[in-house]
Formats: sequence, C-alpha cells, structure tokens
Amino acid sequence: MFKLDNKVAIVTGSGSKKGIGRTIALTLAKQGAAVVVADINMDGVQDTVNAITEAGGKVLGVELNVTSKESVDAMVEKVLETYGRIDILVNNAGISQKVTIQDMTLEDITRIFNVNMFGLFLCTQAVLETMKKQKYGRIVSLSSVSAKRGGGVFGGAHYSASKAAVLGFSKNLAREVALDGITVNCVAPGLVNTDIWKSLPENQAKEVIAGIPMGRPGETEEVAATIAFLASEEASYITGEEIDINGGSHM
Ligand code: NAD
Repeated sequence: MFKLDNKVAIVTGSGSKKGIGRTIALTLAKQGAAVVVADINMDGVQDTVNAITEAGGKVLGVELNVTSKESVDAMVEKVLETYGRIDILVNNAGISQKVTIQDMTLEDITRIFNVNMFGLFLCTQAVLETMKKQKYGRIVSLSSVSAKRGGGVFGGAHYSASKAAVLGFSKNLAREVALDGITVNCVAPGLVNTDIWKSLPENQAKEVIAGIPMGRPGETEEVAATIAFLASEEASYITGEEIDINGGSHM
C-alpha cells in the first residue's frame, strides 16, 4: 500500500472501538504516518492509541469536540507543538439518527449538521493555514451512499442532507486550494460492518443485503485502504472527487 512516512495525519472520530475511524487511524499509522487520534470519547481515544502503540506506530491522542472552535483550535495547536506540521486531515467524526421527516425536529437537524457538516468545516478551516504554508495537504472526508440515493435503514433525511453537504463543500474547497498543493476528496461508503450493522434484526439485515450486488456489507479496512490512497502523495492529481465504496449498491 502507499507509504505515508514522515506525514502527520489527524483522524477525527477515531475513538470508536468498532468504528471506521479507528481502522483508518491504524491503517495510516501502519503506512508510516504519525497519527493524531482525536475524538470526544477519551476512553476510545486511549484504546486506539494503545492499539497503534502496540503495532509500533507513532501516535498522539487528543480529546476533540468537532463542534467547538476552541476545542478544534486547541487540537491543532497541540499537533503543531508536537509534530510541527499537518499533512493529512480525515474528517470522519459523524453521527446519525433514524427518524422520519414527520417526526424530525429542528433540534434533530441542528445536532446532526453540527457534527457532520459544521464540525467538518471547523476542522478543515483550522488546518488550512498550515497546509498552505507547507504547500502540501490531503483532506479526505466521509460522505455516505445515503447522500446520493437516500438513507435506508440507518439514517434520516437530515443525515443524508448533511452527507450531501459534505460533497458540495469539498468540491468548492478543492477548487479554492488547488494551487496550494492541497487536494480535497470524499469517500462515500455504503453499509459498513460496524456495531450498527450488527445491531440489525435478521430479517432487516437480509433485506439490506438483497440490495447489495456483492451480497455483504463493506469492511472498515476496505474504507481505510481507499482513504490511505487518497491521503498519499501518489494521489496528487485527484481532487474534488468522491469514491463510492458500496459493493455496487449504488453505481
Ligand atoms: P461511529 O459512531 O462508530 O464513530 C463515530 C465517532 O465519532 C465516535 O467515536 C464518536 O465518539 C465520534 N464523535 C461523535 N461526535 C463527535 C464530536 N462532536 N467530536 C468528536 N468526535 C465525535 O461511526 P462509524 O460507523 O465508524 O462512522 C464513521 C463515519 O463514516 C461517519 O462520518 C459516518 O457517517 C460515516 N459512514 C458510516 C457508514 C457505516 O455503515 N458505518 C456508512 C457511510 C458513512
């Protein structure tokens, strides 16, 4: 896989024990990056930090609430103090809620957008100055298949809307920073084999699988591998792009 030696990578939301962010953090560390494990859940941060340390990787654990500008700025300051640069930002922190539009409240929408979109904005804005000075940066954000074809069993319309916003935001930013050596891309996973998938009742799981040509959910490693590529030097001429990782469930 693509080498990330001497690169510094922040992965938001990488403190979920069975989540995608943890696998992204482990994968980038395995490829040689110094990884910043940043999450609102400090137990989870410690857990991912231990896993990377045991695997012989370079890692820094930081408490982060992506919805707070003070928290985001403090995280960036700590990373710069520790490593002096930021090469890669993976905007992975995200939340979902299963609710119909009829039952949805403005508070529900605000909560989802606060993390999935406004949090992503705060983290992205906070690393731009450093990446511009370096004339180098890779920003990869987690969208979702639900941005393109609607939510399905796990998310409401507010989740789909927030993940569609991530796509538009990223394309705009890709144009803004194209001359600064910074690329901005998204991945749009379909259903991934995380705790939420395991919690589905069998009949519902069967129904979901029937809609996936490959007949199975994705693995966190499959998402992480695509992100490792987009975060690498080799992906230098790809920007404003989104890569679907969904077993053919949306083409
Ligand atoms: P997860 O719930 O396992 O992990 C999300 C992490 O984000 C958690 O560790 C949580 O503590 C953290 N987080 C939540 N709010 C935060 C905040 N305010 N500040 C900092 N951290 C915060 O979720 P996951 O299934 O691993 O999903 C990861 C990303 O992938 C999300 O953006 C999700 O929308 C996207 N995604 C997931 C799937 C899937 O099937 N699991 C599919 C498509 C896209």
